[in-house]
Amino acid sequence: MKKVLITGAAGFLGSHLCDRFITEGFKVIGMDNLITGSLRNIEHLFSHENFVFYHHDVSKFVHVPGELHYILHFASPASPIDYLQMPIQTMKVGSLGTHNLLGLAKAKNARILVASTSEVYGDPEVHPQNEEYWGNVNPIGPRGVYDEAKRFQEALTMAYHNVHGLETRIVRIFNTYGPRMRTNDGRALPAFLSQAINGEPLTVFGDGSQTRSFCYVDDLVEGIYRLLMSDYHLPVNIGNPDEITIKEFAEEIINLVEDKELEIIYKDLPKDDPKKRRPDTTKAKQILGWEAKVDRKEGLRRTYEYFKKVLK
Ligand code: UDP
Repeated sequence: MKKVLITGAAGFLGSHLCDRFITEGFKVIGMDNLITGSLRNIEHLFSHENFVFYHHDVSKFVHVPGELHYILHFASPASPIDYLQMPIQTMKVGSLGTHNLLGLAKAKNARILVASTSEVYGDPEVHPQNEEYWGNVNPIGPRGVYDEAKRFQEALTMAYHNVHGLETRIVRIFNTYGPRMRTNDGRALPAFLSQAINGEPLTVFGDGSQTRSFCYVDDLVEGIYRLLMSDYHLPVNIGNPDEITIKEFAEEIINLVEDKELEIIYKDLPKDDPKKRRPDTTKAKQILGWEAKVDRKEGLRRTYEYFKKVLK
């Protein structure tokens, strides 16, 4: 039986990955320090014989007894307000945490996949963003702590691959949504859905003309699983290329909750907020035979059901 360590296991993406690997018949070790994750996301796994949970901060030395075949490094604060509130933890988990896990992968002869991000492209001057683009990042801006930690993570992962011949995978994750997002994590979808359900105005930042491309979590998990099992070690974008302005996105959510009284109010655009973002997913298609399947209408409907339950 293959054993996998998933860091950030109690988070949005980490918990869905735990589910997927349990379903695939793996022994899963979930690790999380719970600064942004919640045990509620993995509570249902605690009774499963193939699941164990370690409450641990991966920025400190990581020990896993016995053999280990795969590592997925998904621990990190990941929403702009989280990394603004926890800038040092964000930098530590992307740098020291990644170093510890690469060392663990080397010691166990395990394959490691690290979660990178579309934020490595910064406020992009190339559209859509392909993996060859080097990015446009402000290192000392508010997002720098996340963006540069993830860029460092990619560099260190490539160094371990090149120097030690470690089996490494790098996924660049674009905006993803679905059940188990924190309702108050400050990101556009949780903010808009929570506001709409509570009958409050939706807060669009700037004039709402900035774009994003939102991927449903099940699609993302499928892409990550395929990448881990592939033999491709260079970065691969995983995301849904269906691009929308933030204003239109807010309007879609107003239509979804069918409350005609809801208004949109405009607030200041945060510093260094990327003006547009859409993944070029040619590589994922060619190398993994992967593309996003769940359209926004269906994905939003499923996410709305979850938010209604949590906010009731
Ligand atoms: N945004 C917004 N209102 C909110 C939260 C976010 O208009 O209440 C905007 C934000 O400025 C950005 C986009 O929605 O342009 C997506 O933001 P999010 O925090 O979800 O993720 P990002 O892609 O910026 O990392």
